[in-house]
Amino acid sequence: MNIYLDIVGCRLNQAEIEQFAHQFRSAGHVLVSMPEKSDLAVINTCTVTTAAASDSRGKIRQAKRAGVGELVVTGCWATLNPQEAVNMAGVSCVVSNDQKDRLVPDLLNIPDQTLNRDPLEREPIPGARLRTRGFIKVQDGCDNRCSFCITTIARGPGRSRGIPEILADIRAACDPVGGPNSAKEVVLTGVHLGSWGYDLSPRLNLVHLVRSILDETGVPRLRLSSLEPWDLDEDFFALWENPRLCRHLHLPLQSGSATVLRRMARKSTPREYAKLVAAARAAAAGIAITTDVITGFPGESETEFMESLAFIREMDFAGGHVFTYSARDGTAADRMPEQVPHPLRKQRSARVRAVLAETSAAYRENFLEQVLPVLWESASTLGPYGWELSGLTGNYLRVKAQTPHNMWNTITPVRLTGMNGKELYGQINDLNILSAKRVRK
Ligand code: SF4
Repeated sequence: MNIYLDIVGCRLNQAEIEQFAHQFRSAGHVLVSMPEKSDLAVINTCTVTTAAASDSRGKIRQAKRAGVGELVVTGCWATLNPQEAVNMAGVSCVVSNDQKDRLVPDLLNIPDQTLNRDPLEREPIPGARLRTRGFIKVQDGCDNRCSFCITTIARGPGRSRGIPEILADIRAACDPVGGPNSAKEVVLTGVHLGSWGYDLSPRLNLVHLVRSILDETGVPRLRLSSLEPWDLDEDFFALWENPRLCRHLHLPLQSGSATVLRRMARKSTPREYAKLVAAARAAAAGIAITTDVITGFPGESETEFMESLAFIREMDFAGGHVFTYSARDGTAADRMPEQVPHPLRKQRSARVRAVLAETSAAYRENFLEQVLPVLWESASTLGPYGWELSGLTGNYLRVKAQTPHNMWNTITPVRLTGMNGKELYGQINDLNILSAKRVRK
């Protein structure tokens, strides 16, 4: 069968379709890049915001219009709205999050042990972007109850995958190490990544897992996705002694106001957060600290917002995502009084984005004239002028360069020579390239 896989949402959703891809392929099926070419399509949905839920329904309609043979819907939106999902035109099956691990064997009506886990030659999922990074699911669910969060409701209690399974997936993505299609970077994903191992016996933690991966696999670069601040203690940062661990820490703050954090039922305070950021910077020079911020949370007064904005500026982030508060059915925050008018929420989002744009530009500027390794994620031909490459450094800087060769999915040292908005330009060794004049936009 021809199989089409697509997602809306987070890296965990991406990791899950990479797992589905491996299973379908090891059962002899072929992945295709467009729904119209497929016999079976699987859409992994999201509902973290109203917009994400709407995008999920849009993807389902798009697949229906494309005339797919069979349309399977899974993920957080489908899990929380199974009736609405099954009533959508063309949907033949809805698989809830807690049944996801069985999705492929059940669809193919084969016992999952026949889905050999022997590493197949990695093949990126066909589509607009051929991914060079492997997204690996290590954990699912969450035992916290942040009052705005729908994910913890859609994904259920926290549960960790075992180290042998995770190592097998990483080897499947990276083997043969250095191969043309092999992943040069692996991103560990989960709903509450920092709680990995808490439910295992004996109890373990993320430090154990990261050390095992770095010791027992040849993965060239390992990246951690979002980590909750209360899961990290100061020893955690000793992990960055290993240069294969990407110098990037995504640490959701959500608000810089202590009273707002309390209403969000977050388990950290601005002061504890600041201490953690200082410890990370002391342990790993030049580390990129990025974050998530919600604006317009119920009851957020102008004073609380100004406190939050000042704290965000003080943290000097290398970047971040700003979410305009989006009420989600079933969350505690949805039932809170003093909902902030939507235009004011949007206005506050714009002010936080402006601060993050400033501090992230200053962070990027620090690296001008330095040489950093870049993993080239895309290469577009410039005809006789060679190729334009785009890629990421370990500390999550987006870099462009021009070369005579297609260097997709390789890691090369690059001298960073110019800046253009959110992008840096660079020179690979002494190859003659398009080095942007020092342009500030
Ligand atoms: S820790 Fe993260 S996933 Fe868990 S409830 Fe809070 S925001 Fe949601």
